[in-house]
Amino acid sequence: MLQFCSFESLRGILESTAINGREEMSFATGFVAAALPLALLSPSSCMPKGNVAMGFVTSHPAAVIREFLEEAGGCAVIDGGLATQLETHGADLNDPLWSAHCLFSSPDLIKKVHLDYLDAGANILITASYQATIQGFESGGFSAEQGEDLLRKCIDLACEARRIYEDRCSEGSCDSAENCFSSKRPILVAASVGPYGAYLADGSEYSGDYGKDVTLETLKDFHRRRLHVLVKAGPDLVAFETIPCKLEAQAYIELLEEANIEIPAWLSFSSKDGINIASGDSLAECVSIADSCKKVVAIGINCTPPRYIHQLILSIRDVSGKPIIIYPNSGESYDPVEKKWVESTGAAADEDFISYIAHWHEAGASLIGGCCRTTPNTIRAIARTLGKNYLSVQK
Ligand SMILES: [Zn+2]
Repeated sequence: MLQFCSFESLRGILESTAINGREEMSFATGFVAAALPLALLSPSSCMPKGNVAMGFVTSHPAAVIREFLEEAGGCAVIDGGLATQLETHGADLNDPLWSAHCLFSSPDLIKKVHLDYLDAGANILITASYQATIQGFESGGFSAEQGEDLLRKCIDLACEARRIYEDRCSEGSCDSAENCFSSKRPILVAASVGPYGAYLADGSEYSGDYGKDVTLETLKDFHRRRLHVLVKAGPDLVAFETIPCKLEAQAYIELLEEANIEIPAWLSFSSKDGINIASGDSLAECVSIADSCKKVVAIGINCTPPRYIHQLILSIRDVSGKPIIIYPNSGESYDPVEKKWVESTGAAADEDFISYIAHWHEAGASLIGGCCRTTPNTIRAIARTLGKNYLSVQK
């Protein structure tokens, strides 16, 4: 059973913040709303000001990512490790909810980390919802409704960071010429969906070994409501991340189809050997599943050591022509017993990580960022390597 130090005090915090008082959209014509695709029900407050993402929800998902990549100059920068940077700012993440704990304990810190990555040159912010699930919040003593509010908060925090950043740039009040140069680039908010194993917090997110009792339907039932809540909160796309097994990829695809979701999604797998995905399932089969879904606009690899990435890009290219996303970890290993990252042979220092970037881009990756243990410095280096001219003015 998941344990929190003080559920009562946390609930108190929750009830005193804006999340419970958040204005829900009201539809006078509910029967019309019920017939619309989920993305069209999104609150407009999350839309960026005056950039390419405005109107995305009315475009075909594949066109959305194509337009975005064009606007970004052919390649785009994803942000870096959320938990790593939260810890840098003093957050204590020793909790079953991991970074999602900060949603009620220190939401401003999450916003600050999003801003750190925008300052570093990111085009895509991944929300703090990786380990945020309604079931996880319920295990922590919250109601399902409060859990849903916390999911919406993930989207709101990223959108707010984007708004602050764009306002700061347009007012010319950013703290460096470098940051001001970045005001015109497209910025998207991607709703993170972590695997079932991230909720279990038992290390199975890196093995995909959920046991024989977990079926396709189990996984669909687990993810369904969370996905719907996240999509309705108005992100630009959905990021299914660190997928460890084929069964979970299949569950995501079927959920996208059944829910009539019209915003783009990406599927990103993890690998422990540079050949297969984490469970040992064939990467080619998983990519093929993702490729078959029109709503999936990019396919890739995350939370995997940098040294495996080049070969994995080539393997994805053999199966799919969709844009390839790459956001590796630092190369360190996660110890599920100690619940911490430990150095392993082959761990890449920041400089080593950076030396790979041009090769990944040449091999076919068009969306590149960092996962666990990467920092704004990593992301800034990626942006520079990819020739982002908004970073050409040195501090
Ligand atoms: Zn990671």
